[in-house]
Amino acid sequence: MTSLPLHIVRGACGHDCPDTCSWIVEVRGGRAERLTGDPTHPFTRGTLCAKVNHYLERVYHPDRVLFPLKRAGRKGEGRFVRVSWDEALADIASRWSAIVEGFGAEAILPYSSAGVQALIQTASIDRRLFGSMGCSNLERKICGGTAAAGLSATIGCGTGIDPEDVVHSRFIVLWGTNTIVTNLHLWPLVREARSRGAKIVVVDPIRTRTAEDADWHLQIKPASDATLALAMMHVMIRDGLVDHEYVSQHAIGFDALADRAAQYSPERVSQAVGLPSEVIERFAREYATTQPSLLRPLIGLEHHRSGAMQFRTLACLAVLSGSWKHRGGGLARSTHALQFAALNMDSVLMPEVYKPGVRTLNMRDLGNDLCSRDLDPAVRALMVYSTNPMVTMPNQDRIREGLLREDLFTVVHELFVTDTALYADYVLPATSQIEHLDLSPAWGHLYLGLNRPAIAPRGESVSNTELFRRLAGALGRTETWLFESDESMVRAALASGHPWLEGISFERLWDQGYARLNSPEDWRPFANGAFATPSGKAELYSESLMEAGHDPLPWTGEVRAGDGLQLITGKSLHYLNSGYNNMERHRRRAGELFVEIHPDDARTRRVATGDMVRVWNERGEVRAMCSVSDRVRPGVAWMPFGGFTDAGGTRRSVNLLTPEEPTDWGGGSGLYDAFVEVAPAAR
Ligand code: SF4
Repeated sequence: MTSLPLHIVRGACGHDCPDTCSWIVEVRGGRAERLTGDPTHPFTRGTLCAKVNHYLERVYHPDRVLFPLKRAGRKGEGRFVRVSWDEALADIASRWSAIVEGFGAEAILPYSSAGVQALIQTASIDRRLFGSMGCSNLERKICGGTAAAGLSATIGCGTGIDPEDVVHSRFIVLWGTNTIVTNLHLWPLVREARSRGAKIVVVDPIRTRTAEDADWHLQIKPASDATLALAMMHVMIRDGLVDHEYVSQHAIGFDALADRAAQYSPERVSQAVGLPSEVIERFAREYATTQPSLLRPLIGLEHHRSGAMQFRTLACLAVLSGSWKHRGGGLARSTHALQFAALNMDSVLMPEVYKPGVRTLNMRDLGNDLCSRDLDPAVRALMVYSTNPMVTMPNQDRIREGLLREDLFTVVHELFVTDTALYADYVLPATSQIEHLDLSPAWGHLYLGLNRPAIAPRGESVSNTELFRRLAGALGRTETWLFESDESMVRAALASGHPWLEGISFERLWDQGYARLNSPEDWRPFANGAFATPSGKAELYSESLMEAGHDPLPWTGEVRAGDGLQLITGKSLHYLNSGYNNMERHRRRAGELFVEIHPDDARTRRVATGDMVRVWNERGEVRAMCSVSDRVRPGVAWMPFGGFTDAGGTRRSVNLLTPEEPTDWGGGSGLYDAFVEVAPAAR
């Protein structure tokens, strides 16, 4: 074996993570022997995270689905038999055709998310096929949509500066983001900024690892972010710390905002925010006067009912401070919009072939939509790929109820028999990231990666694109755009003519693995205004929001109150959403599902660290190990989401407890507006 030549193949991680690490796969005799980070990548610098360091164990895991499987037992039982691709495709095509004939194509719901996060495997042939059939559209806004919509209301887009420019910042506010765990390659740049004199502030109800390493942690109450930001504006306006030159040139609505902010004195909001007024005063002054100041909100804030307003309000802070003028100043969020603006996305998605007037269902509502008696037509076929909604979507028991419907025909394309796949009529084998081609636009930096297939698809697994080419064929479709090759789609996406892609060819990416977009070296997107809002200015007062029925000015947002402890769920170190939970190494390291509560709350509930507890609300109940810690504020319960199942041994996840209630705008879900009770449980 060792006499066979060693091949080096460059690729990129396809997980739902801002970093999009470049990696190198060493392949001998068709088998991947080693997968390591690419040390030449300027942002990810050769390190992978705890999840992906053992990626090849996932690729070669004995539990991988390698052949099409057909259900042989009751739904949820997990009994399947192997069938041929021909049999599976013919049956699926026949069932779908009958559903279209009997109920219309909207009775088919394609359901996917960021399980493969890249370009064509995330969305290409699938969109063309389902769009041209007139199947129900899926609004995929559970993550990122609300944040982008909130920022857009103020600055016209959901992005900001190049995150690598954080090294130029002097006052960095990591707002609701646990950078060390969920955006780990940004952290060395944050530290570099600190070595140049920057102060690192974390705003978070939880004392995360990032908060522990920061210079200052502001442990606010959940969902009080907009209130805190308004109090900061109050101080800035009162004390003459607003950059009036910038605001007068590049913003509208300052006077109205000033009237609104006058209501938010630090003394008045101190209790609502959970910080002493003098702390709010100091934070506001340091933020306004230490330039360049940078806000870095990522995910946390958007998972509240008021998520969009939280983001909109933060964006106003960056306008009042005038920090956009400075390199490293302003606000930094997802770079996806910058990457997709450079690529020729229409060539990939082909929206011109979609049937018009088709209904859209929001992914957060899956359980209710599957169980609804009012939806017309009812969803009768579900095609799930690149996601595991039974674990990652809110209101898990409602989704289970829907998936158990005997008249629902469910197909799941997956690497493993996930919690969702247990309920499938067919489970089709999916490739891993080292078995297919893709272009990888990152949402945490401005490098574009090319993920080359390092090994042949294992067993009879196929990529998403190949799956939908096969399904199109089985349905009797003949249009050439349903059978376009992966390479052709990647080349077309790169051939946009956008100046940021000049010189970035397929061949160059094939050799180097990645390339940085040609953004200007010193890029300050809003130093001279030019916001992509209807007025072309930063909209401190928004007519568009008013027309849509929202408050045109920033405000606290609709902050939910409830009985019990406010449940905040967060990512863990060893699972990637629901991924890796079937792997012993990761399960061992992650431990059992736990709930973290403050000592005061533990005392009144007579629970202690190490106790098995019940955590419940009106939606259901899970068992978890209790962890008592002042890492969390009084009144808050923190639980990891994703791979963990109930500590009592059932397949319940923490999303049993979370609501699908919509955010104010942006299409997300108020996942964090759940309240739970905690009490001792018998072992
Ligand atoms: S999950 Fe994120 S940090 Fe981990 S290897 Fe993938 S891109 Fe890198």
